[in-house]
Amino acid sequence: MREVVERIEGWLRRLERRGEYEPAWGDREDVYAVALAGVLHQRTRRELAEPVLRELLRRYPEPRDLLSAPERELRSLLSRIGLVERRLRTVVGLARLLAECPRPSRRKLLEVPGVGPYTADLVAAVVYEERVLPVDANVRRVVERSTGRPVEKVRGEWVKSARSPRDLALGTIELGRRHCRSEPRCDECPVRPVCAARSDEEPRPS
Ligand code: SF4
Repeated sequence: MREVVERIEGWLRRLERRGEYEPAWGDREDVYAVALAGVLHQRTRRELAEPVLRELLRRYPEPRDLLSAPERELRSLLSRIGLVERRLRTVVGLARLLAECPRPSRRKLLEVPGVGPYTADLVAAVVYEERVLPVDANVRRVVERSTGRPVEKVRGEWVKSARSPRDLALGTIELGRRHCRSEPRCDECPVRPVCAARSDEEPRPS
């Protein structure tokens, strides 16, 4: 597993160095931006969620800006990705918490209605560099295919091998997007030489 993890981290770093990858929140890796990304990406395609996130951060760069925004403006922005009432409650709840406490604990984040373990773990890994892995369907697919084991059994070991929990979390998410999709694109996948499930294996002789 260590080899898989090293390859994912190394790949992410190379992409960033070459300017071929940028997180949805740009270069501001703070709790506000990363937590907003986590909640906006739930139940929405990334192509739809990212422009809304960027626009929110542009118009309301700090939690207090969002708290003083007219509700109709927020509704209009969130209507691009649906679940408006729910998301409105969540983004306002987040802004309220972060205006008071810019670096809340995982427990505090989870108290905000609509913030689930994925968002809390994304913040913990990316902003706090804690050894946790945010798991959604894409991350589950990458981990389970590449290790051949259920994510629940291996997530502890997965993050333990990381040099940077941030790079590993973002690399795993990105790998699920670019290569390890429902129909995997193994040919150019950086994990292929050490993957338990790569699709180019020779068929076993009968
Ligand atoms: S080699 Fe294929 S199955 Fe393995 S992680 Fe890469 S894309 Fe997924």
